Amino acid sequence: MQIGVHGLVFTGQFDEQGLVTAASGAQQAGFDLLELPLMNPYTFDGPLVQRIADDHNLAVTASLGLDADHDLTSDDPATRQRGRDLLHRAVDVVAEAGGAHLCGVLYSAMRKYMHPATPQGLEYSATIISELGEYARTSGVQVSLEVVNRYETNVFNTGRGALQFLQSVTSNNVAVHLDTYHMNIEESGLYQPVIDTATQLRYVHIGESHRGYLGTGTVDFGSFFRALAAINYSGPVVFESFSSAVVSEALSNTLGIWRNLWNDSADLAAHANRFIRDHIRAVDTIAMH
Ligand code: MN
Repeated sequence: MQIGVHGLVFTGQFDEQGLVTAASGAQQAGFDLLELPLMNPYTFDGPLVQRIADDHNLAVTASLGLDADHDLTSDDPATRQRGRDLLHRAVDVVAEAGGAHLCGVLYSAMRKYMHPATPQGLEYSATIISELGEYARTSGVQVSLEVVNRYETNVFNTGRGALQFLQSVTSNNVAVHLDTYHMNIEESGLYQPVIDTATQLRYVHIGESHRGYLGTGTVDFGSFFRALAAINYSGPVVFESFSSAVVSEALSNTLGIWRNLWNDSADLAAHANRFIRDHIRAVDTIAMH
């Protein structure tokens, strides 16, 4: 398993200076991997990302949530085409940076919908995601669809919902991405969805119920890490936390980050790195019982 951290723990800017800030923060906290938010992949320089990550001994992954102008479920063909093009650019950035994973809300806009998803919208999305999966395969990039709560998409909100959506995706290079923050809102528990999605689970986000310090909210991390051990999960495990202390215009407002839950990125990150590794170590020893 690679233990990683989202770049927004350290900075809201991802120019060269911001990338160095995020990479050095991730390295100093003890992480193996840095996840970059590619909300606008056209602004990222893939080779530069790779050089900075290499300088800090970090693997790179990327995530994004589409906005309404790039929504793959839209009835407007031009909107869907912009979304398709943006996702292809995101795959290119990941590949140029030497990364192997693109994840997040790739299949719709990341926003509160005021209506259920339509059959036509789901079909549009599944078609573009199928093509994206095959495109990404040629670059060695795995595509994983993040299961998020009902206020951030109307396509699916549970692990089983994601499996159902994947039945209409023809590429087997598209898989499931679970996030404990969203699971805590929508799922029946933190154990069973990992078991249910086991064969398709390729990416994991670790977030607390309020998106602050791990262990200070209501997420049942004990069950979640036991489930990861039960399925021999070997993919990335990435800490996500957001506070008004670090602001990204593209992401903070979309996620509703209005409160200051921490103000010391280095302390937050070092704590999360220990918390995740301690949980993984503890469940490993269950095999000795
Ligand atoms: Mn997430």
